[in-house]
Amino acid sequence: MTPLSTREGDLEPTEIETTVPPDETPATHCPYCGRPFPTEQLSTLHIGDVHQTEWTGTEHEAYEDAYQTESDELFIYHLKVIAALVFVFFGFSYVYVFVWI
Ligand SMILES: [Zn+2]
Repeated sequence: MTPLSTREGDLEPTEIETTVPPDETPATHCPYCGRPFPTEQLSTLHIGDVHQTEWTGTEHEAYEDAYQTESDELFIYHLKVIAALVFVFFGFSYVYVFVWI
């Protein structure tokens, strides 16, 4: 008997239920499992993560490009978060030093 679980991490990626809101149309579907995606890039990343045993050479190259693009975007996001934290830290330090002392 398989234990039931509600945690997403215990499910295979192809077992995750997805629904598309009625007023939206998915940009593409996974050609292997039919899962809908709002962008082509997300579909490409999904194929690379889940369907590596089935993908073609073209899909492999597209995955490498999409992965690099997402890594660059994530790096920029992390820089923005660090800049915001530094700004808040020095902002509070400035207020503490010049206003409350
Ligand atoms: Zn799929």
